[in-house]
Amino acid sequence: MTLKFETRAIHAGQEPDRATGATIVPVYQTSTFTQQAIGEHLGYEYSRCSNPTRTALEICLASLESAQFGVAYASGMAAIAGVMQLVDAGDHVVVADDLYGGTYRQFTKILPRYGVTFHFVDATNLDAVASAIRPETKMLWIESPTNPMLRLVDIAGCAKIAKQAKIQLVVDNTFATPYLQNPLELGATIIVHSTTKYIGGHSDVIGGAVIVNDEETYRTLRATQNATGAVPGPWDAWLTLRGVKTLAVRMRQHQENAFAIARFLREQSQIANVYYPGFLDHPGHEIAKKQMRGFGGMVTIELKGGESAAREICKHTQVFSLAESLGGIESLIGYPWLMSHGGFPADEKLKKGIARNIVRLSIGIEHIDDLRSDLAQALAKLPK
Ligand SMILES: *Cc1c(COP(=O)(O)O)cnc(C)c1O
Repeated sequence: MTLKFETRAIHAGQEPDRATGATIVPVYQTSTFTQQAIGEHLGYEYSRCSNPTRTALEICLASLESAQFGVAYASGMAAIAGVMQLVDAGDHVVVADDLYGGTYRQFTKILPRYGVTFHFVDATNLDAVASAIRPETKMLWIESPTNPMLRLVDIAGCAKIAKQAKIQLVVDNTFATPYLQNPLELGATIIVHSTTKYIGGHSDVIGGAVIVNDEETYRTLRATQNATGAVPGPWDAWLTLRGVKTLAVRMRQHQENAFAIARFLREQSQIANVYYPGFLDHPGHEIAKKQMRGFGGMVTIELKGGESAAREICKHTQVFSLAESLGGIESLIGYPWLMSHGGFPADEKLKKGIARNIVRLSIGIEHIDDLRSDLAQALAKLPK
């Protein structure tokens, strides 16, 4: 019986506990496991290598991506570092230039010291992606939709290029979540998630995951993680597992609210532009329809009043909290210029459209009337 997404989120990897019958996977808060005789054990030896609470989460996340293998990490950045340990000194990586700020920092500040080179490219242009590939290229790295401008990258198009070049295609699927998009089914070979965002969903735990179908890649990731140590603790794995059970219902509400907020904001005189992939005139709308099952919970706006208007609205919302992060049940407002993208050089930001008048909204699952009124009262404080 092939179970549906909602059912897998609640049951995959989460059979009743074999020792006690506990219906919910227990927090196995232990660093080590007692052996019956030397080398004779129930599959667990030491919690850096593996831990039953973490295993349950890994099986569940792999199942949600309809994939074979999952590896849970201490954070999204640790998951990304884990994937980057698949490349060697001298290797070349082609990366979409519209990228999460932390990933950009790791790729520009840390990894070049180990002899890995990166070429940043506009991945919405497949010709540019194809022509950036060299003989020493080992990996193509993309995000879709991108942060914060919500551009769509054609995953199947990139997969074709990667397959032809015999290189890995990595997709950071954090924004879309497995509920809306399954990159492996579109031809990607590696998925990374910051489970801190929608998968955990409650802004109470940091975590990451890598999902693959290829067994050799999985074994390398697992061995590398064991050798370098970026594992989540049992409590963090448990919180993430508890969060992911409701991913489907949360995502449905996130996007219903997001679309309503996007439509509302489009009518406001203080706003020059609203970016939401659900709009027919969004440049990535057709790609979104092709590769996603919905348009997600993020909305980005461009204010007519420049930086001061952006600062004002961030100051005056009451239901929306001014905070880093996204994907939680609560609505957040952020200023990419100085917050999520503060680490990018100014010209890089401007090239991607991240100007001083851009504000990013992570639409939560509060009542839509309250979200709308909150933004209305904050906008009312700006000059018309
Ligand atoms: C937050 C985020 C990350 C980093 O994840 P952490 O859990 O914060 O380490 C990576 N990629 C994307 C798209 C993110 O939003």
